[in-house]
Amino acid sequence: MLHLAIGDPWQLVREASGHFDHISLSTDLLRQADASQREGLAAGLSALARHGSLLQPNPPCSALPDDWLPQLRSRGWVPADTAGLAPGSMRFAPRWRDATPPAAVAREATVIGAGLAGSAVAYSLAERGWQVTVLDRAATPAAGASGLPVGLVVPHSSADDTLISRVIRAGIRSTLQRAAALLQPGQDWAATGVLEHCVDGKSKLPRSWQANAAHPPDWISASRPWASTATPLQLQQACLPADAVAVWHECAAWIKPWRLVQAQLEHPTIHFVGNTAVHSLQRPAADAPWQLLDDTGQMIRQTDLLVLTAGFESRQLLQSLQQPLPLNPLRGQIAWGWQQTSHLGLPAVPVNGKGSLACHVPWQQSAQAGSIWITGSTFSRSDNTPDVREQEFPEIWQKLQMLHPAAADQLQADFAQGRVQGWAGVRATLPDRLPAVGALARSRHGQPADLLQGLQLSCGMGARGLSLSVLAGELLAAQLHDEPWPLEKRLARLLAASRWLDKPV
Ligand SMILES: Cc1cc2nc3c(=O)[nH]c(=O)nc-3n(C[C@H](O)[C@H](O)[C@H](O)COP(=O)(O)OP(=O)(O)OC[C@H]3O[C@@H](n4cnc5c(N)ncnc54)[C@H](O)[C@@H]3O)c2cc1C
Repeated sequence: MLHLAIGDPWQLVREASGHFDHISLSTDLLRQADASQREGLAAGLSALARHGSLLQPNPPCSALPDDWLPQLRSRGWVPADTAGLAPGSMRFAPRWRDATPPAAVAREATVIGAGLAGSAVAYSLAERGWQVTVLDRAATPAAGASGLPVGLVVPHSSADDTLISRVIRAGIRSTLQRAAALLQPGQDWAATGVLEHCVDGKSKLPRSWQANAAHPPDWISASRPWASTATPLQLQQACLPADAVAVWHECAAWIKPWRLVQAQLEHPTIHFVGNTAVHSLQRPAADAPWQLLDDTGQMIRQTDLLVLTAGFESRQLLQSLQQPLPLNPLRGQIAWGWQQTSHLGLPAVPVNGKGSLACHVPWQQSAQAGSIWITGSTFSRSDNTPDVREQEFPEIWQKLQMLHPAAADQLQADFAQGRVQGWAGVRATLPDRLPAVGALARSRHGQPADLLQGLQLSCGMGARGLSLSVLAGELLAAQLHDEPWPLEKRLARLLAASRWLDKPV
């Protein structure tokens, strides 16, 4: 695997985590820096290096400034004498740190829950050489919230571009890359972009992005922004009036979540086992494997690394360890239907805002094949029953009328005459609306922390599993492998599962 971090070195040492094997440093930038900036950089780079990491001047024929070398040496850097390296290269070899590589361990993990979160973690581990068993109480994968027929991956807009908005952008990068690698474009997903209709008439574009060009560019082209005020042509394609207030999200897509789950689980070192409900967890001693028990107390499986990705049910499984997590159920229902030739006013691109609408999605069910539209959804707090309720369809239609009046008019007869189908699921949310990812490293009730070692979480995806699950899997695996993390340190801290350990539930 190749992880690349490119940019201002001072920003990188502030924001990056994990360890890098190779650092290439601009000598021009170093020469412009003052002594205290160089001191800070020497400390920061040493924190990002592992035994054997290389530091090379860039361009390779240049040299690191002589007066900087003592600072590097005092932090454990020594001249690298390997043939073929640029002169002046340094290697990280501090005498005070153990140079022995960690002993090879059998990389075997068990994941509970075969939804977006579980399949994404399993895939990230499998790509790093793990044998992964994914258990689910249902017979087939994506039986929970990830069975949603079609969902949107779309940035979260906020006037002051909050940290949550930034986390979600990092997540969308990961998801769209995974979708491009594993899914069939046009069938399983489409990177259409999404139009956000600001139904209250106020643009959601961050203020600083509106005022000047200081918006973060997308990763496809530095000249294109993540989001911009929708143009008249984009409004027309979305079948919205020319005076509608709307934001165009370039890096956005529709995806069939269950297809992403299936595609991730197809990895050759992942083994899916259905019809296996885990009732409780235990670990008899700190160095013993985790034990997964069924409802009669019989052991289903033992494992050294256990990842809990059971959506809302993760709460009950953690309770069996006296480790409460404030997960809450948030039920939701969508409506969908076959697109008819009479449906002329349906938007060419997905529209979101208060609710969402995606049309022209290819679909096959039994002998019928065609395109569907899908809209929703409802939000019922403290409700964890995923049954489809006829009485929620009028509410879904009224939401659609606000979001997209032309489509609501087109589909009114379908809703009125019962030609609409439903799907419902239960999201699992945490009070700060971000997932819980990674180790539960500290203990809440004074038990030794290592009693929880080998237990990892990826749950609490809320209404954003498509945007967050791939990032969560990559973060969890990067932390286990001491690799560079896939997002900035302070954003990663917002996702840390351990943030809940000392909070009242
Ligand atoms: C109506 C609706 C619309 C949505 N729209 C979008 C959208 O447009 N974009 C978006 O990003 N997200 C959307 N979401 C949210 C998204 O669906 C979820 O965030 C995501 O599916 C959560 O994935 P998960 O893997 O955490 O949970 P789940 O998919 O629920 O997976 C949990 C799995 O664990 C299994 N399990 C539970 N308990 C046990 C046990 N004890 N033993 C063994 N297995 C167990 C379950 O069977 C299930 O398969 C929507 C959700 C709903 C309900």
